[in-house]
Amino acid sequence: MADEAPVIVVGAGPVGLFAALALRAHRLPVVLLEADPASRHRTGSRALYVHGKSLALLESTSEGLGAELASRGVLWNVRRTLYRGREVYAREFPPHDRSRGLPPFTSLRQSETERVLLDACAKAGVDVRWSHPVSEVVAHSDGVTVATDDGQTWSGSHVVGADGARSTVRKCTGTTLDGSAAEGFHVVVDVADEPGTPPSLERVMHYEHPAAEGRGVLVVPYAKGFQVDVQSRAGDSPEVIASPQEVLRWLPALIGPTPVERVTAISVYRFLQLIADDFTDPHRRVLLVGEAAHLFPPFGARGMNSGFVDAHAAADAIAAGRRSPAANSDAVTGFATARRAAAEVNSAAAGAALRHLRPPSTAARLRRRAAASLAPVVPRFGEWLEHAPYGPRAAMGH
Ligand SMILES: Cc1cc2nc3c(=O)[nH]c(=O)nc-3n(C[C@H](O)[C@H](O)[C@H](O)COP(=O)(O)OP(=O)(O)OC[C@H]3O[C@@H](n4cnc5c(N)ncnc54)[C@H](O)[C@@H]3O)c2cc1C
Repeated sequence: MADEAPVIVVGAGPVGLFAALALRAHRLPVVLLEADPASRHRTGSRALYVHGKSLALLESTSEGLGAELASRGVLWNVRRTLYRGREVYAREFPPHDRSRGLPPFTSLRQSETERVLLDACAKAGVDVRWSHPVSEVVAHSDGVTVATDDGQTWSGSHVVGADGARSTVRKCTGTTLDGSAAEGFHVVVDVADEPGTPPSLERVMHYEHPAAEGRGVLVVPYAKGFQVDVQSRAGDSPEVIASPQEVLRWLPALIGPTPVERVTAISVYRFLQLIADDFTDPHRRVLLVGEAAHLFPPFGARGMNSGFVDAHAAADAIAAGRRSPAANSDAVTGFATARRAAAEVNSAAAGAALRHLRPPSTAARLRRRAAASLAPVVPRFGEWLEHAPYGPRAAMGH
């Protein structure tokens, strides 16, 4: 029965949508169950940065997909870092030459990325069922049974759990998330570009911004707007500083006059470093991917990007395992081991970024200050201040 049964993907976030596409690339039948209605408007600001490696992975899985995302996003080519209002690093990169293929990254809102992935799913023949919240998943040796809130049951060969941080699929496998949550929070505000004004293509990192009472501020452009990320200080309350009235009060000091209509989203996030203790179940029929399997802080852009790699690896494992139960066990175990190890790498890299952004000791804070003083004469200190907030570069794109 398992050979004819579809693979059931739970969750139509970016990772579930891509998992469905990767499964279709292996010509496997796919049913995608999503809790939200098709008319949903996902609130809040989330992923912008799509790594070049992700664009290449999307393109190799579904022809034209990486190019489509790249054409809808922007490539900011100026990076600046300031310490207490004084520039310590600036670099302008030449614009990307399209004839050389996909760009090194692209920046667009996650909702737009999801729209492009959903269109690709429709073309690839993915059976998407909106308004179908999954309430239970039972795995057995030759397949899975999934129940949705409306009382229907669905049989499949495997479940790919892409249902995000509060994953029902993960809970049904009995897997737990282990790790830590850092002190403090960030407020993220999405601002639409001013109509008729050319967009700024500068990504600017501020340490101890004087106009933000010494808070860290990161400004990241995306297609048709930019995101302002403000790091909380001790004593800040999200209910206060992230309330729309307060945001409209402090935002102009950072980016100039901002009419309310240009503020398109305000969200609060915390630095979480959590990893599922297992990415599969004992029968090797459930595969956890994306935020169902791991949560990383946004700095370093590891969440969605590593979720794409999980999704691709899950589809390969399911396809490889169709030959026999033994092949399935080996392939799914290999997926779970490899992707959990990658999550450990990502989490450690995010931890290094966090220690840089929120120095745990006075000595660590002084190191940043000393680097800022020396940067005008020793450029590598400016480079360190530019790169350290994202964690080790070697760990990118896992
Ligand atoms: C401010 C911010 C900035 C970020 N920036 C970046 C970045 O630049 N680059 C990057 O790579 N990552 C970034 N991230 C992380 C990124 O947003 C997440 O990693 C990504 O959304 C995870 O995708 P996902 O598909 O795993 O989960 P989700 O996007 O959470 O999708 C889960 C889906 O499952 C559905 N669902 C939930 N429960 C059920 C159920 N029981 N039944 C059926 N469906 C269900 C949900 O409705 C949803 O559609 C950022 C995050 C934040 C907060």
